[in-house]
Amino acid sequence: MSSSYGTPRAAIGIEIPICLCRVVMKRTATQPKMRRIKAINEYQMYCPSCGFYTHHDWCKQAVIAEWCGANRPGDEHIENLWRQRYERQQQENTAIQKYL
Ligand SMILES: [Zn+2]
Repeated sequence: MSSSYGTPRAAIGIEIPICLCRVVMKRTATQPKMRRIKAINEYQMYCPSCGFYTHHDWCKQAVIAEWCGANRPGDEHIENLWRQRYERQQQENTAIQKYL
């Protein structure tokens, strides 16, 4: 998994930001991780620290692009959206568990 991780980053030419839980919740965020949901053969990025996750998609780059958009640092509007989304995810968490 880690061996293929660097390729899409190079392809889209941007740094993958660390999860906004570092800012919003003052967590010690670690690097986001990519996982493949085997049951539906799609990718998803998530934060091992807080559990924030993107939508899942067959296209790895789309997943990375979504992560980058959702976790862009230094933008208050993005932070607010992140917080809302995180809270929604906490409620929906049981729904995603079936894939794992
Ligand atoms: Zn996080």
